[in-house]
Amino acid sequence: MTRQVFANIIVDISHEKLDRTFQYIVPDGLRDRIHAGSVVMIPFGKANRMTKGYVLQLSEKPEYDLSKMKEVQDVLTDESQITCEDRLVELAAWMRDIYGTTMIQALRTVLPVKKKMRQKEKKMIRLLIDKEETVQRLAFFRQKNQRARLRLLEALSDEKEIPYELVTGKLNVSSEAVKAMEKQGILACESFKVYRNPVHMKQEKAGTVILNEQQQKIVEDIVRRGKTSGKRVSLIHGITGSGKTEVYMELIADVIARGKQAIVLIPEIALTYQTVMRFYRRFGERTSVIHSKLSQGERYDQFLRARNGDIDVMIGPRSALFTPFPNLGIIIIDEEHEPTYQSESAPRYHARETGIHRAEIENALVVLGSATPSLEAYKRALDGEYNLYRLDKRAKDSALPTSHIVDMREEMAGGNRSIISKVLGEKIRERLKSGQQVMLFLNRRGYSGFISCRSCGHVIMCPHCDVSLSLHGNGRMVCHYCGHQEAKPVRCPECGSEFISGFGIGTQQAQEIVQKQFPEARVLRMDMDTTREKDGHEKILSAFANQEADILIGTQMIVKGHDFPNVTLVGILAADLSLFAQDYRASERTFQLLTQAAGRAGRGKEPGEVVIQTYDPEHYCIRTAAAQDYAEFYDEEISYRMVAGYPPVKKMMSIHGSGRQEEHLQTAMEYLRKMVLRIYGEHKGNVIGPADESIARIQEIYRKVLYIKSDSVRELTEIKSRLEQYMEVNEGYRNINIQFEIDM
Ligand code: ADP
Ligand code: ZN
Ligand code: ZN
Repeated sequence: MTRQVFANIIVDISHEKLDRTFQYIVPDGLRDRIHAGSVVMIPFGKANRMTKGYVLQLSEKPEYDLSKMKEVQDVLTDESQITCEDRLVELAAWMRDIYGTTMIQALRTVLPVKKKMRQKEKKMIRLLIDKEETVQRLAFFRQKNQRARLRLLEALSDEKEIPYELVTGKLNVSSEAVKAMEKQGILACESFKVYRNPVHMKQEKAGTVILNEQQQKIVEDIVRRGKTSGKRVSLIHGITGSGKTEVYMELIADVIARGKQAIVLIPEIALTYQTVMRFYRRFGERTSVIHSKLSQGERYDQFLRARNGDIDVMIGPRSALFTPFPNLGIIIIDEEHEPTYQSESAPRYHARETGIHRAEIENALVVLGSATPSLEAYKRALDGEYNLYRLDKRAKDSALPTSHIVDMREEMAGGNRSIISKVLGEKIRERLKSGQQVMLFLNRRGYSGFISCRSCGHVIMCPHCDVSLSLHGNGRMVCHYCGHQEAKPVRCPECGSEFISGFGIGTQQAQEIVQKQFPEARVLRMDMDTTREKDGHEKILSAFANQEADILIGTQMIVKGHDFPNVTLVGILAADLSLFAQDYRASERTFQLLTQAAGRAGRGKEPGEVVIQTYDPEHYCIRTAAAQDYAEFYDEEISYRMVAGYPPVKKMMSIHGSGRQEEHLQTAMEYLRKMVLRIYGEHKGNVIGPADESIARIQEIYRKVLYIKSDSVRELTEIKSRLEQYMEVNEGYRNINIQFEIDM
């Protein structure tokens, strides 16, 4: 007799009740068709009413009295009865399989979080005054330095009406200020429900651009593929400013015209007011946005609107991928290469892979866009798995910037110890004279301004985390992971030497140096510290866009978002710093950052220039970024990945372990390694570690990682399932946390 199989089933997928499962017998006839994620019909309750249920898990262990257990009736296959939640549950099951988490955790990621909340009223703000008065009021606010009001009125003079949530959110105008302006008769706040006037929004469409030939071809081709059964994933490799967003919007318009909906993923950092407004302008109030600043209730509301068919377009970062649209037509992933598309908590899903899978389930299209595609996406496009399109000219006819590489070793040898090379200094001076703007980009990825002893080399670390403390302007040292602070010591705690100081420089210090060298310049800074408050970075960017400063200096944050037509010079300080990160993607990330930073120059009428300062001018990544030559970068990089056996050439699973006791964690990880070798055979080259994570300890929790490489994702997920079974029955894994990550 074959063993009996039982299914643990949830009936209510509203968030609070996910843990409540019921066990049913899987009849022999259904055994092959039921798996985690299956939607089934079951007799439920005293009356045995036929109810829909979701299979969380199959098991061979009965948890209830067998004689009272009921049987699963059927698997739901009737397309007309399958809802978008059902498809999301299927997606969760896939995520469980690939990213190895519990089904409940996967469901929590995928299903909208239900929270009883008062339904918020949707409000719009509308401009009431005419052009002449607007100009007067603008001048008045400027004179009185009422910046919030100025910002709002400027936005209103462009748009005439703006959703209230954007005003108090992205624009960061207080509700008091709005009220005051309403009293003055400048604007009116109107409830969304009462005031529904899409006509006005439609009029805005006058601004719609006419696509150029390249763009038009891409749109036609993708639309045609949507109607046939060809490849459904497309990659648009288009330089910044080449008009990718216009292509996205045209594709969305087509999808909407066919009664379907669209999801647009944009990395949070690039989700600026300007970007969002472009979509609002085109698609009106049937557009919604989610972002990390929304409360759970607000997020749920947006998902509810999607579910109810009140909106057609959802814009947002990674998590917008799970918008419950009834009839999803397209998923667009802009800046597809961005690392933030990978979740850092379980399930560690990647939005690109997960999006592609969702599109498969829903029969939707996927469009990936980037100026510097990920090696993964580009390789698959070259291999013919995705359609590949190119946009290699800027849409507005502005030329690409000219680049100069400066070897900082020669600067030093020539006696210049400043962080600004001679060439860069001269070019900044020219810009200041002619009233053009400059951006200085300090590459600090994977690097913090640590304090070290020049005599013995001792580095000051956080007592709770294995990271160095960074020096702040107030003379205190701060841990960026746990917030620990202490005063900077006068002497080295290790050897007593007085030569203890910051190594390299931070943005704040760079700002001081630049200000000293160019006293007449107005210098703005953008980094973690200056953007801590709500919409901090939006404010700095708008100030710079309004030409309230000549020089903007900052970290990678400054390379995204706004267009600054008056910026004609970009200086990249310490271009090679991110090459030192211990990560096989270090070159790829550096290339992406440099290309993006360079792309900020010369977006207006005047041509732009880029100065790249480096200690490693021969490095292919610096050379190709300066030449804006993606193809050559790709060739170099893919051959390195080939030799070293890294993704996308091989697939790689990282097993992240963390726990309070280091020895215990080490042993547990070593046993996992042994298990892998037993399952996998003895080609040891494919199993690396366990080793410390690049940050080996955070808040007293130790962190280790084991890497497994393989030619197939299937093989890796099989190994993962076996390891999961092993850990489930083994007490040694109770007190440690294990997470899987797959790079494909
Ligand atoms: P990307 O998304 O590739 O960075 P955008 O779509 O933002 O590029 O386009 C850059 C700028 O060029 C925008 O201001 C956009 O409105 C404009 N633009 C794009 N396509 C056209 C076109 N066909 N005609 C005129 N302007 C265009
Ligand atoms: Zn010392
Ligand atoms: Zn710390």
